[in-house]
Amino acid sequence: MTHPRQRASDHKGQPITASKSSPSAADFQPEQYTEDLLAGYYDGVIGLDVSAHITLINKTACQITGWTQTEALQQPLHRIFKFVDTLQAKTCQEMISDIINNGQILGPIKNHQIQLRNGTILNIDFSISPLDEQTAILMFHEADHENSKQKNPLLYQFSHDSLTRLANRDTLQRAMHHLHNEFQQQGKAYSILLLDVDRFKLVNDNFGHQAGDQLLQLLAERMQHFIRSKDNIGRWGGEEFLCLLPDADHETACLIAQRLVQGIADQPFLLNQQKIHISASIGIASYPRDGDDPEQLLRVADNTLYHAKQNGRNRIHSTKQLTENIFSVGTQLENALNENRIIAVYQPIFDLMTGEQVAEEALARIQDENGELIPANDFIDAAVELQMVHRIDHQVIRTMVTRCYESFSQSKTSCPHFVNISADLLRHPQLVKDIIDFARSTCNEKCEQKQCEKKPFVIEITEQELLGEVDEVKKLLAPFIEFGMPLAIDDFGSGYSSLSYLADLPISYLKFDGSLIKRVAFEERARKIITGIQRMAESLELVTIAEHIENQQTLDALREIGVSWGQGYFSARPAE
Ligand code: C2E
Ligand code: MG
Ligand code: MG
Repeated sequence: MTHPRQRASDHKGQPITASKSSPSAADFQPEQYTEDLLAGYYDGVIGLDVSAHITLINKTACQITGWTQTEALQQPLHRIFKFVDTLQAKTCQEMISDIINNGQILGPIKNHQIQLRNGTILNIDFSISPLDEQTAILMFHEADHENSKQKNPLLYQFSHDSLTRLANRDTLQRAMHHLHNEFQQQGKAYSILLLDVDRFKLVNDNFGHQAGDQLLQLLAERMQHFIRSKDNIGRWGGEEFLCLLPDADHETACLIAQRLVQGIADQPFLLNQQKIHISASIGIASYPRDGDDPEQLLRVADNTLYHAKQNGRNRIHSTKQLTENIFSVGTQLENALNENRIIAVYQPIFDLMTGEQVAEEALARIQDENGELIPANDFIDAAVELQMVHRIDHQVIRTMVTRCYESFSQSKTSCPHFVNISADLLRHPQLVKDIIDFARSTCNEKCEQKQCEKKPFVIEITEQELLGEVDEVKKLLAPFIEFGMPLAIDDFGSGYSSLSYLADLPISYLKFDGSLIKRVAFEERARKIITGIQRMAESLELVTIAEHIENQQTLDALREIGVSWGQGYFSARPAE
């Protein structure tokens, strides 16, 4: 090995030595030198005296090791971190004094493990070089992060969460301040995403904490595929992750967030040979749109995350029961989707006055391995929670469109085919487009021949799925409406009735909730409510439909009130 003063230096893990412009030992000013050195390097730099005590430490070294400068100065190196395999079978002190006394560089050594004070094991590339007769310089960086370091040296300055190997909260905070200063100076936009794993507790409760930890590790890995190379993601705490997006305005941030949400929900995670479906909620904040400083942006992200969760909670609250076996239902669904075992059954809808069949509703079923049909009630809530329901909708609507085309070909009349859709489907514009393209190419010609004013498909959306801003809902439903598909509100009266939807959305059908219908013949209050809604619907020229008609008394009561159409076990059960 050559003496440091005879070699040029670089900062990519190569030995550091005094360069031509570096101060000589004679005029060496430790503080000044520290500042000069630190300005140019993104590696961790630690100055050591002959007894291996720390005489200087830069910020990166602090970030990687988890020590502050004040804490670390004058401490022996082995208190800051330990080399896992003793180098050259020497104590740290012997090693440093040898380097200084012999004037020889140690390293570069690649991929050597060190243990931090919190127990985390890190792989580092490092070298130790003598600086003068009293000092050696240890220079290091994390071995794994060479790539991201080259791409964005500022954001490389992370120390890591021991479980996920991502940046931890402290370093994320520091990185965010760096990012802010840089982008504020340049007058450019950046964004942050705060991501929280939905129902993580369920994973821990069902599979144990070890599985929960493993899931976080897999998630950390997977998320890297959905962010850009210049983005950085770290563990904010628990099951929360923070993602820093340089050069991303709000629109870009929304796209990345959408990609993350989909990327997490679309494919199951494999835990102990079991497929687990999870989803995540994300809060977004962008500079300068949402705030002037990192703290404010974090507050906004936290707030928007809370709202995302609230929407989720509303859905959870509205679902009949979030069963504990949600994950096994998820696996069953995943298999059924992959093996084309999601099918549709159809329940006729009758005109209550004439008794004529006027429409039908498509309902999803899983066909199990024995050919038995599992009703939607047993899996749809889990599918909503696991954000898999858009795939069911896609499958059922395509099946229904094909059936509609066939019935068109056979008969002259075109009775409307009702199909249920979810808010989850609306969040997948590409699938919506695919459905409409398919419907257009399959049925348009027939519709023109029969001069249908409206398309013979009606989309049903439940009240609780419509929770949210009317304008937003309108925008999401626009492709269906523009294509000419009438809209039905399902389960009206189930507790979420929002009359503003009736006023603001182009709704053609109103379906009374089954639980209300079951009471109509026996409870005066239920009867009054249905009568009131019926009158309002008439004034809005809506067709009303009663579901769950199970007996003659109910049918009679509904006829008396003047409800237009009905469906239920009394007339016909759903069938293939
Ligand atoms: P829904 O759209 O209100 O459908 C009516 C539900 O009531 C169906 O249950 C149907 O089988 C059942 N039903 C029909 N007549 C009677 C009756 O007389 N008495 C009783 N007690 N029940 C009756 P199913 O098929 O299990 O569906 C449950 C819910 O799942 C549906 O309620 C709908 O909200 C949802 N769903 C079904 N298929 C799909 C789908 O393809 N996509 C989406 N997003 N949701 C679906
Ligand atoms: Mg329905
Ligand atoms: Mg319903």
